[in-house]
Amino acid sequence: MLEVTRLSTAYGLIKALDGVSLSAQTGAVTCILGPNGAGKTTLMFSIAGILRPEAGSIQFDGIELSRLDAPGVLKHGLALVPENRLVFPLMSVRENLQAGAYLRPASTPAAVREITEDIEKMYARFPVLGERAGQNAGTLSGGEQQMLAVARALMSRPKILLMDEPSVGLSPLIVDEIFSIIAQLNREGISILLVEQNAAKALQVADHFYLLDHGRVAFSGTPGEMENDDVIQRAYLGDRAA
Ligand code: ATP
Repeated sequence: MLEVTRLSTAYGLIKALDGVSLSAQTGAVTCILGPNGAGKTTLMFSIAGILRPEAGSIQFDGIELSRLDAPGVLKHGLALVPENRLVFPLMSVRENLQAGAYLRPASTPAAVREITEDIEKMYARFPVLGERAGQNAGTLSGGEQQMLAVARALMSRPKILLMDEPSVGLSPLIVDEIFSIIAQLNREGISILLVEQNAAKALQVADHFYLLDHGRVAFSGTPGEMENDDVIQRAYLGDRAA
């Protein structure tokens, strides 16, 4: 469904992605692991149309995305939940959700009704967002901001969510909640491409793993193959094995 082929992206002379190939299947949770600076965010930004790759292709359901800008990519059903949430801090929770539907302008009464219904669905899914609807997003806790970032992305009715380290900086209980949300969204039919450092948690939800290192794919395999890989075992699953 999502097929990335020999993708290279650079910041000036710094080559952050160097011929990355990977695929994410429809209905699956595909997880990308990798140390700091490996190029994970660069990969997500390249897929989401925020960064322009210098070579390679990104195909989604047969459509070439690598030359599209961010709204163009979103239109095809790929929505990014960025690292560190990046909610709009001075806008209310409700306004953040409205912003997530920016490709569906509220220009007719029917469109307004649809967006309002979708916002109500987000409040039903994440009750805390309903309770804080009028509150500035910047005043939410880290976990609440993560839920808002997910809900904002869902407002575009995506086929695939690109989630960049959703558990970073959150307490273990909230991390559990985030992972159960990921599993639930996946059960509802949304495909997920997940960047995650917490390999033990990712093992609970992911169908396939890639390890990115120095801008290249260093490993690709199933959860079972990943658990049996010595390097990954030591670097990512050490705590769990202990
Ligand atoms: P982390 O886990 O720390 O978020 P990452 O795997 O997401 O890291 P990237 O943020 O994609 O890594 O960075 C990949 C490489 O590109 C790093 O060497 C980084 O220093 C470099 N890089 C990232 N953003 C820029 C930028 N705006 N300008 C120059 N170099 C950058």
